[in-house]
Amino acid sequence: MDVLQLDVSGRPQAWISPKEAAILYASDEIAWTLGEPFTVLRGGIQRLSGLQSRIELHPIVAVRGSIPSRAWRSAPALANTKLFARDRYLCAYCGRQFHPDDLTREHIVPTSRGGIDSWMNCITACRSCNGRKGSWTLRELGWSMYYLPYVPSLHEDMILRGRRILADQMEFLLACVPAHSRLRG
Ligand SMILES: [Zn+2]
Repeated sequence: MDVLQLDVSGRPQAWISPKEAAILYASDEIAWTLGEPFTVLRGGIQRLSGLQSRIELHPIVAVRGSIPSRAWRSAPALANTKLFARDRYLCAYCGRQFHPDDLTREHIVPTSRGGIDSWMNCITACRSCNGRKGSWTLRELGWSMYYLPYVPSLHEDMILRGRRILADQMEFLLACVPAHSRLRG
C-alpha cells in the first residue's frame, strides 16, 4: 500500500512507499494526516526507555514546506499506462476492451500530418485499429470515436498513477475530480 503525499495546502504531490512515509514521520515533516492509520511500523528498542519505537501510518499525509506551484499548474505528463487507464482500456475505434499489452497510443491527427503528442490528440486504440488507421485522418476514413480525449486533472492523474488505492485516498481524490471524468463512470 502506498501513502498519498500532499503539500501543506492539500494538493497531491506523489505516491510514496510506507518506508518513505516513515522517514517523514520520524523527521517530523508531517503537518497533518487524513484517514485512519492502516498499518503500524515497528522499529528498534530504545536503549534508555526499553520501549520499541512504533509509527502509525495514515493513508494521506501532508508535508510541511514550500508549495511546488509549477507542478500544480502544468498538465500531467502523458504516459501509456495513464492514457489506457483514462480511456478504461477501451479502443476508441472498435469500442472493445483489451489487455494493456494489446493497446497502443493512437494519435488522432497523425504525427506525420502535424499532430502532437498530447492528452487531447492521443487516444487508446487496439493494435488492429491503429494499424488500419495508419496516417489517415478520421474524416478521410469516415471513422468516429466511441469517446473523446481530455486532459486529466492533477487529482485524476494521481488516481491514474496509483497502484492499490485505499478507500480514504480514493474518496479524497475523487472529491476533486471533475464531473466529466470517465473515472466517475
Ligand atoms: Zn480497435
